[in-house]
Amino acid sequence: MLSPVHLKLELAVRGIRVDPALAAQGVLARAPNARDPHSREVEIVLPDNVVAACAMQPEVAAVTSPFALEVKNDQFWLTGAGEEAIKVSILPQPRYYGRETSLGTPMWQVGAVTGNYISIDPAATCGFAIQGVTCAFCTLKPQPAGAAQTLRPVQEVVETVRAAFDEGVAEFVYFNTGYFDAEDGGFSALRPYIEAVKNKFDTLVAVQAHPPADNQWIDRTYAAGVDALCYNVEVYDADLLAHYCKGRTDLVGRNRYFEALAYAAKIFPSGTVWSDLIVGLEPPASTTEGIDALTAAGVLPVLSLFRPLQESALGDYPALKPDEVAPIYAHLYRAVRDAKINVQWMRDLGYAVTPIEARYFAGEDAKFDVAVSSFYKSKIGSRAVRGLSKLRRRLRVKEVRESFDSSKL
Ligand code: SF4
Repeated sequence: MLSPVHLKLELAVRGIRVDPALAAQGVLARAPNARDPHSREVEIVLPDNVVAACAMQPEVAAVTSPFALEVKNDQFWLTGAGEEAIKVSILPQPRYYGRETSLGTPMWQVGAVTGNYISIDPAATCGFAIQGVTCAFCTLKPQPAGAAQTLRPVQEVVETVRAAFDEGVAEFVYFNTGYFDAEDGGFSALRPYIEAVKNKFDTLVAVQAHPPADNQWIDRTYAAGVDALCYNVEVYDADLLAHYCKGRTDLVGRNRYFEALAYAAKIFPSGTVWSDLIVGLEPPASTTEGIDALTAAGVLPVLSLFRPLQESALGDYPALKPDEVAPIYAHLYRAVRDAKINVQWMRDLGYAVTPIEARYFAGEDAKFDVAVSSFYKSKIGSRAVRGLSKLRRRLRVKEVRESFDSSKL
Protein backbone atom coordinates (compact mmCIF):
# COMPACT_ATOMS: atom_id res chain seq x y z
CA MET A 1 0.00 0.00 0.00
CA LEU A 2 1.19 3.53 -0.72
CA SER A 3 2.41 5.57 2.25
CA PRO A 4 0.19 8.58 3.05
CA VAL A 5 2.71 11.00 1.52
CA HIS A 6 3.15 8.93 -1.66
CA LEU A 7 -0.61 9.02 -1.85
CA LYS A 8 -0.60 12.77 -1.28
CA LEU A 9 1.76 13.15 -4.22
CA GLU A 10 -0.36 10.93 -6.44
CA LEU A 11 -3.50 12.83 -5.50
CA ALA A 12 -1.82 16.17 -6.14
CA VAL A 13 -0.77 15.07 -9.62
CA ARG A 14 -3.82 13.07 -10.68
CA GLY A 15 -6.68 14.81 -8.85
CA ILE A 16 -9.71 13.02 -7.52
CA ARG A 17 -13.09 12.05 -8.93
CA VAL A 18 -15.98 13.27 -6.86
CA ASP A 19 -19.55 12.26 -7.38
CA PRO A 20 -21.30 15.33 -8.89
CA ALA A 21 -24.05 15.13 -6.26
CA LEU A 22 -21.43 15.22 -3.53
CA ALA A 23 -19.48 18.04 -5.19
CA ALA A 24 -22.71 20.02 -5.50
CA GLN A 25 -23.02 20.12 -1.70
CA GLY A 26 -20.51 22.98 -1.83
CA VAL A 27 -18.88 22.19 1.50
CA LEU A 28 -16.08 20.10 0.02
CA ALA A 29 -14.22 22.58 -2.12
CA ARG A 30 -11.99 25.10 -0.49
CA ALA A 31 -13.48 28.51 -1.02
CA PRO A 32 -11.90 30.72 -3.61
CA ASN A 33 -9.92 33.64 -2.27
CA ALA A 34 -9.59 37.21 -3.34
CA ARG A 35 -6.50 36.44 -5.43
CA ASP A 36 -7.75 33.26 -7.05
CA PRO A 37 -11.47 33.25 -7.73
CA HIS A 38 -11.60 29.61 -8.84
CA SER A 39 -12.60 27.05 -6.27
CA ARG A 40 -11.13 23.79 -7.39
CA GLU A 41 -9.61 21.81 -4.57
CA VAL A 42 -10.63 19.61 -1.71
CA GLU A 43 -8.42 19.07 1.34
CA ILE A 44 -8.33 15.47 2.47
CA VAL A 45 -6.83 14.23 5.73
CA LEU A 46 -5.10 10.94 4.98
CA PRO A 47 -3.82 8.38 7.51
CA ASP A 48 -1.09 9.74 9.85
CA ASN A 49 -2.81 13.14 9.63
CA VAL A 50 -1.19 13.94 6.28
CA VAL A 51 -3.16 16.74 4.62
CA ALA A 52 -3.48 16.54 0.83
CA ALA A 53 -4.95 19.22 -1.41
CA CYS A 54 -6.18 17.79 -4.66
CA ALA A 55 -8.04 19.02 -7.68
CA MET A 56 -11.62 17.94 -8.09
CA GLN A 57 -12.25 19.22 -11.55
CA PRO A 58 -14.50 16.47 -12.91
CA GLU A 59 -13.56 17.08 -16.53
CA VAL A 60 -9.85 16.54 -15.80
CA ALA A 61 -9.96 14.01 -13.00
CA ALA A 62 -12.61 11.86 -14.68
CA VAL A 63 -10.16 11.08 -17.45
CA THR A 64 -6.92 10.67 -15.58
CA SER A 65 -7.49 9.93 -11.93
CA PRO A 66 -7.81 6.42 -10.55
CA PHE A 67 -8.91 7.95 -7.22
CA ALA A 68 -12.45 8.63 -6.12
CA LEU A 69 -14.02 10.14 -3.02
CA GLU A 70 -17.12 8.38 -1.77
CA VAL A 71 -19.45 8.56 1.21
CA LYS A 72 -20.63 5.38 2.91
CA ASN A 73 -22.28 5.14 6.32
CA ASP A 74 -21.64 8.84 7.01
CA GLN A 75 -17.92 8.39 6.44
CA PHE A 76 -15.62 9.53 3.64
CA TRP A 77 -13.67 6.83 1.80
CA LEU A 78 -10.90 7.10 -0.75
CA THR A 79 -10.92 4.38 -3.39
CA GLY A 80 -8.43 3.61 -6.15
CA ALA A 81 -5.32 3.41 -3.96
CA GLY A 82 -5.36 -0.36 -3.61
CA GLU A 83 -7.86 -3.10 -3.12
CA GLU A 84 -9.37 -1.66 0.01
CA ALA A 85 -10.96 1.74 0.44
CA ILE A 86 -9.15 4.08 2.86
CA LYS A 87 -11.05 5.92 5.55
CA VAL A 88 -10.31 9.66 5.24
CA SER A 89 -11.64 12.95 6.58
CA ILE A 90 -12.33 16.15 4.75
CA LEU A 91 -11.41 19.62 5.92
CA PRO A 92 -14.71 21.33 5.20
CA GLN A 93 -15.14 24.98 4.44
CA PRO A 94 -15.20 27.03 7.63
CA ARG A 95 -18.58 28.45 8.58
CA TYR A 96 -17.18 31.98 8.76
CA TYR A 97 -16.87 31.98 4.95
CA GLY A 98 -20.58 32.75 4.99
CA ARG A 99 -20.11 35.87 7.12
CA GLU A 100 -19.18 39.46 6.28
CA THR A 101 -16.90 41.92 8.05
CA SER A 102 -18.41 45.04 9.65
CA LEU A 103 -17.51 46.86 6.43
CA GLY A 104 -19.51 44.39 4.34
CA THR A 105 -16.67 42.36 2.77
CA PRO A 106 -17.21 38.59 2.58
CA MET A 107 -14.75 37.12 5.10
CA TRP A 108 -13.58 34.44 2.65
CA GLN A 109 -12.11 37.28 0.58
CA VAL A 110 -10.12 38.53 3.58
CA GLY A 111 -8.67 35.25 4.80
CA ALA A 112 -8.84 31.63 3.64
CA VAL A 113 -8.07 28.64 5.85
CA THR A 114 -5.62 26.01 4.68
CA GLY A 115 -4.59 23.20 7.02
CA ASN A 116 -4.43 24.87 10.44
CA TYR A 117 -3.62 28.43 9.42
CA ILE A 118 -5.48 31.39 7.97
CA SER A 119 -3.83 32.92 4.91
CA ILE A 120 -4.26 36.64 4.38
CA ASP A 121 -3.08 39.02 1.70
CA PRO A 122 -3.96 42.56 2.76
CA ALA A 123 -3.02 43.97 -0.67
CA ALA A 124 -5.46 44.01 -3.56
CA THR A 125 -2.91 42.66 -6.02
CA CYS A 126 0.77 41.85 -6.47
CA GLY A 127 3.21 44.58 -7.48
CA PHE A 128 4.42 42.36 -10.32
CA ALA A 129 0.92 42.53 -11.83
CA ILE A 130 0.99 46.32 -11.55
CA GLN A 131 4.27 46.39 -13.48
CA GLY A 132 3.12 43.80 -16.04
CA VAL A 133 5.62 41.10 -15.01
CA THR A 134 3.50 38.41 -13.37
CA CYS A 135 4.92 34.92 -12.95
CA ALA A 136 3.95 32.56 -15.77
CA PHE A 137 2.25 30.09 -13.41
CA CYS A 138 0.17 32.79 -11.71
CA THR A 139 -3.51 33.40 -12.39
CA LEU A 140 -3.18 37.15 -11.78
CA LYS A 141 -3.64 39.32 -14.82
CA PRO A 142 -1.45 42.37 -15.46
CA GLN A 143 -3.15 45.49 -14.11
CA PRO A 144 -4.08 48.52 -16.23
CA ALA A 145 -1.38 51.19 -16.49
CA GLY A 146 -1.37 53.49 -13.46
CA ALA A 147 -3.01 50.95 -11.13
CA ALA A 148 -2.07 51.46 -7.47
CA GLN A 149 -1.51 49.02 -4.63
CA THR A 150 -4.46 49.30 -2.27
CA LEU A 151 -4.60 47.76 1.20
CA ARG A 152 -7.47 46.27 3.15
CA PRO A 153 -8.49 47.96 6.44
CA VAL A 154 -6.72 46.36 9.45
CA GLN A 155 -10.08 46.08 11.20
CA GLU A 156 -11.35 43.62 8.56
CA VAL A 157 -8.31 41.41 9.02
CA VAL A 158 -8.70 41.37 12.81
CA GLU A 159 -12.42 40.52 12.54
CA THR A 160 -11.74 37.67 10.13
CA VAL A 161 -8.89 36.22 12.19
CA ARG A 162 -11.15 36.37 15.25
CA ALA A 163 -13.93 34.57 13.38
CA ALA A 164 -11.54 31.81 12.30
CA PHE A 165 -10.06 31.42 15.79
CA ASP A 166 -13.48 31.47 17.48
CA GLU A 167 -14.63 28.72 15.15
CA GLY A 168 -11.48 26.74 15.96
CA VAL A 169 -10.48 26.24 12.30
CA ALA A 170 -7.12 28.02 12.43
CA GLU A 171 -4.31 28.34 14.95
CA PHE A 172 -1.76 30.47 13.09
CA VAL A 173 -1.82 33.54 10.83
CA TYR A 174 0.04 33.56 7.54
CA PHE A 175 0.44 36.86 5.70
CA ASN A 176 0.98 35.83 2.13
CA THR A 177 1.80 38.93 0.13
CA GLY A 178 2.98 39.68 -3.37
CA TYR A 179 5.65 42.12 -4.47
CA PHE A 180 5.75 45.70 -3.15
CA ASP A 181 7.70 48.30 -5.08
CA ALA A 182 9.43 49.56 -1.92
CA GLU A 183 12.89 49.34 -0.40
CA ASP A 184 11.50 47.60 2.68
CA GLY A 185 9.88 44.82 0.60
CA GLY A 186 6.45 45.89 1.89
CA PHE A 187 7.31 45.59 5.59
CA SER A 188 5.89 49.04 6.48
CA ALA A 189 2.64 48.19 4.71
CA LEU A 190 2.40 44.89 6.54
CA ARG A 191 3.48 46.04 9.99
CA PRO A 192 0.06 47.38 11.17
CA TYR A 193 -1.50 43.99 10.42
CA ILE A 194 1.27 42.07 12.20
CA GLU A 195 1.02 44.36 15.24
CA ALA A 196 -2.76 44.16 15.36
CA VAL A 197 -2.73 40.36 15.23
CA LYS A 198 0.08 40.08 17.77
CA ASN A 199 -1.68 42.53 20.13
CA LYS A 200 -5.05 40.87 19.96
CA PHE A 201 -4.26 37.17 19.70
CA ASP A 202 -1.82 34.76 21.29
CA THR A 203 -0.71 33.19 18.04
CA LEU A 204 2.22 32.63 15.71
CA VAL A 205 2.57 34.83 12.63
CA ALA A 206 4.30 33.77 9.41
CA VAL A 207 5.05 36.14 6.54
CA GLN A 208 5.66 35.33 2.90
CA ALA A 209 6.97 38.31 0.96
CA HIS A 210 9.72 39.34 -1.44
CA PRO A 211 13.10 40.39 -0.05
CA PRO A 212 13.71 43.99 1.05
CA ALA A 213 16.66 45.82 -0.49
CA ASP A 214 18.45 46.05 2.85
CA ASN A 215 18.84 43.46 5.62
CA GLN A 216 17.89 45.91 8.36
CA TRP A 217 14.26 45.33 7.32
CA ILE A 218 14.68 41.65 8.09
CA ASP A 219 15.82 42.57 11.62
CA ARG A 220 12.78 44.78 11.94
CA THR A 221 10.49 42.03 10.65
CA TYR A 222 11.72 39.75 13.41
CA ALA A 223 11.49 42.51 16.03
CA ALA A 224 7.89 43.21 14.97
CA GLY A 225 6.85 39.76 16.13
CA VAL A 226 7.02 37.66 12.98
CA ASP A 227 7.73 34.03 13.88
CA ALA A 228 8.47 32.56 10.45
CA LEU A 229 9.55 34.17 7.20
CA CYS A 230 9.55 33.08 3.58
CA TYR A 231 10.99 34.52 0.40
CA ASN A 232 10.06 32.17 -2.41
CA VAL A 233 12.78 31.32 -4.89
CA GLU A 234 10.38 29.06 -6.86
CA VAL A 235 12.85 28.05 -9.61
CA TYR A 236 16.57 27.51 -8.97
CA ASP A 237 17.92 27.55 -12.53
CA ALA A 238 18.79 31.17 -13.36
CA ASP A 239 17.66 31.07 -17.00
CA LEU A 240 14.41 29.29 -16.24
CA LEU A 241 13.72 31.68 -13.38
CA ALA A 242 14.12 34.60 -15.78
CA HIS A 243 11.80 32.81 -18.21
CA TYR A 244 9.02 32.02 -15.71
CA CYS A 245 9.42 34.81 -13.17
CA LYS A 246 10.47 37.98 -14.91
CA GLY A 247 9.40 40.09 -11.93
CA ARG A 248 11.70 38.19 -9.57
CA THR A 249 14.76 38.55 -11.77
CA ASP A 250 14.15 42.07 -13.11
CA LEU A 251 12.73 43.83 -10.06
CA VAL A 252 14.35 41.99 -7.14
CA GLY A 253 17.27 39.99 -8.57
CA ARG A 254 17.80 36.25 -8.12
CA ASN A 255 20.82 36.68 -5.84
CA ARG A 256 18.92 38.94 -3.51
CA TYR A 257 16.51 36.10 -2.63
CA PHE A 258 19.43 33.90 -1.56
CA GLU A 259 21.24 36.69 0.33
CA ALA A 260 18.11 37.72 2.20
CA LEU A 261 17.17 34.13 3.04
CA ALA A 262 20.66 33.40 4.35
CA TYR A 263 20.59 36.53 6.50
CA ALA A 264 17.11 35.76 7.84
CA ALA A 265 18.18 32.21 8.70
CA LYS A 266 20.78 33.70 11.04
CA ILE A 267 18.19 35.85 12.79
CA PHE A 268 15.13 33.60 13.06
CA PRO A 269 15.06 30.22 14.86
CA SER A 270 16.17 27.18 12.89
CA GLY A 271 13.45 25.92 10.57
CA THR A 272 11.39 29.11 10.53
CA VAL A 273 12.90 30.59 7.36
CA TRP A 274 11.73 28.73 4.33
CA SER A 275 11.49 28.98 0.57
CA ASP A 276 9.30 27.15 -1.92
CA LEU A 277 10.77 25.44 -4.94
CA ILE A 278 8.34 24.28 -7.61
CA VAL A 279 8.94 20.69 -8.62
CA GLY A 280 8.29 20.17 -12.30
CA LEU A 281 9.26 23.54 -13.77
CA GLU A 282 12.92 22.67 -14.10
CA PRO A 283 14.97 19.46 -14.42
CA PRO A 284 15.12 17.39 -11.20
CA ALA A 285 18.90 17.94 -10.94
CA SER A 286 18.33 21.67 -10.85
CA THR A 287 15.73 21.37 -8.07
CA THR A 288 18.11 19.24 -5.99
CA GLU A 289 20.82 21.88 -6.48
CA GLY A 290 18.33 24.43 -5.21
CA ILE A 291 17.62 22.26 -2.16
CA ASP A 292 21.35 22.07 -1.43
CA ALA A 293 21.85 25.82 -1.85
CA LEU A 294 19.00 26.58 0.55
CA THR A 295 19.94 24.04 3.22
CA ALA A 296 23.59 25.19 3.09
CA ALA A 297 22.28 28.61 4.11
CA GLY A 298 20.15 27.15 6.91
CA VAL A 299 16.92 27.67 4.96
CA LEU A 300 14.18 25.06 4.86
CA PRO A 301 13.13 24.14 1.31
CA VAL A 302 9.46 23.35 0.81
CA LEU A 303 8.66 21.58 -2.43
CA SER A 304 5.40 22.54 -4.06
CA LEU A 305 4.25 20.52 -6.99
CA PHE A 306 3.67 22.20 -10.30
CA ARG A 307 0.05 21.93 -11.30
CA PRO A 308 -0.91 23.85 -14.41
CA LEU A 309 -3.84 26.14 -13.73
CA GLN A 310 -6.05 26.58 -16.76
CA GLU A 311 -6.24 30.36 -16.37
CA SER A 312 -2.45 30.83 -16.20
CA ALA A 313 0.03 31.22 -19.06
CA LEU A 314 1.16 27.62 -18.40
CA GLY A 315 -2.29 26.02 -18.57
CA ASP A 316 -1.17 23.43 -21.16
CA TYR A 317 2.07 22.44 -19.44
CA PRO A 318 2.44 18.63 -19.22
CA ALA A 319 1.47 17.03 -15.91
CA LEU A 320 4.14 15.53 -13.66
CA LYS A 321 4.83 11.84 -13.21
CA PRO A 322 5.02 10.95 -9.49
CA ASP A 323 7.79 8.36 -10.11
CA GLU A 324 10.06 11.05 -11.50
CA VAL A 325 9.68 13.38 -8.56
CA ALA A 326 9.87 10.92 -5.65
CA PRO A 327 13.73 10.93 -5.64
CA ILE A 328 13.69 14.72 -5.23
CA TYR A 329 11.68 14.36 -2.04
CA ALA A 330 14.08 11.72 -0.74
CA HIS A 331 16.93 14.17 -1.42
CA LEU A 332 15.02 16.89 0.44
CA TYR A 333 14.67 14.78 3.57
CA ARG A 334 18.36 13.84 3.67
CA ALA A 335 19.58 17.37 2.89
CA VAL A 336 17.50 18.90 5.67
CA ARG A 337 18.45 16.16 8.14
CA ASP A 338 22.18 16.53 7.35
CA ALA A 339 21.98 20.32 7.69
CA LYS A 340 20.27 19.79 11.08
CA ILE A 341 17.48 22.23 10.30
CA ASN A 342 14.48 21.99 12.61
CA VAL A 343 11.58 20.54 10.62
CA GLN A 344 8.90 20.83 13.26
CA TRP A 345 7.56 24.27 12.40
CA MET A 346 6.68 23.40 8.84
CA ARG A 347 4.36 20.44 9.17
CA ASP A 348 1.06 20.44 7.34
CA LEU A 349 0.94 22.17 4.02
CA GLY A 350 -1.69 20.64 1.82
CA TYR A 351 -0.20 22.20 -1.32
CA ALA A 352 3.36 21.00 -0.72
CA VAL A 353 5.39 18.15 0.70
CA THR A 354 7.20 19.41 3.78
CA PRO A 355 10.62 18.04 4.79
CA ILE A 356 9.08 16.13 7.70
CA GLU A 357 6.72 14.41 5.27
CA ALA A 358 9.55 13.77 2.83
CA ARG A 359 10.94 11.15 5.23
CA TYR A 360 8.46 8.70 3.70
CA PHE A 361 10.44 8.88 0.46
CA ALA A 362 13.78 8.30 2.16
CA GLY A 363 12.65 4.91 3.46
CA GLU A 364 14.01 5.56 6.92
CA ASP A 365 12.71 4.84 10.36
CA ALA A 366 11.35 8.15 11.56
CA LYS A 367 9.58 7.30 14.78
CA PHE A 368 11.22 10.21 16.58
CA ASP A 369 10.05 12.68 13.95
CA VAL A 370 6.52 11.40 14.22
CA ALA A 371 6.50 11.61 18.02
CA VAL A 372 7.77 15.18 18.06
CA SER A 373 5.43 16.13 15.24
CA SER A 374 2.44 14.88 17.23
CA PHE A 375 3.54 17.02 20.15
CA TYR A 376 3.69 20.15 18.03
CA LYS A 377 0.29 19.35 16.57
CA SER A 378 -1.34 19.34 19.98
CA LYS A 379 -2.72 22.53 21.45
CA ILE A 380 -0.32 22.21 24.37
CA GLY A 381 2.56 21.88 21.91
CA SER A 382 1.47 25.03 20.08
CA ARG A 383 1.38 26.97 23.35
CA ALA A 384 4.83 25.71 24.25
CA VAL A 385 6.19 26.88 20.88
CA ARG A 386 4.65 30.32 21.35
CA GLY A 387 6.23 30.66 24.81
CA LEU A 388 9.64 29.74 23.45
CA SER A 389 9.22 32.08 20.51
CA LYS A 390 8.41 35.06 22.77
CA LEU A 391 11.42 34.45 25.00
CA ARG A 392 13.83 34.12 22.10
CA ARG A 393 12.53 37.29 20.45
CA ARG A 394 12.88 39.34 23.63
CA LEU A 395 16.54 38.36 23.82
CA ARG A 396 17.14 39.04 20.13
CA VAL A 397 15.34 42.39 20.09
CA LYS A 398 17.43 43.53 23.05
CA GLU A 399 20.55 42.52 21.14
CA VAL A 400 19.48 44.41 17.98
CA ARG A 401 18.57 47.51 20.00
CA GLU A 402 21.95 47.49 21.69
CA SER A 403 23.71 47.16 18.35
CA PHE A 404 21.67 50.03 16.83
CA ASP A 405 22.42 52.15 19.92
CA SER A 406 26.14 51.50 19.83
CA SER A 407 26.34 52.25 16.08
CA LYS A 408 24.33 55.50 16.70
CA LEU A 409 21.95 54.63 13.82
S1 SF4 B 1 4.79 36.80 -6.93
FE1 SF4 B 1 4.23 35.84 -8.90
S2 SF4 B 1 2.93 34.13 -8.28
FE2 SF4 B 1 3.02 35.48 -6.54
S3 SF4 B 1 1.22 36.83 -6.78
FE3 SF4 B 1 2.96 37.87 -7.71
S4 SF4 B 1 2.85 37.33 -9.87
FE4 SF4 B 1 1.56 35.85 -8.77
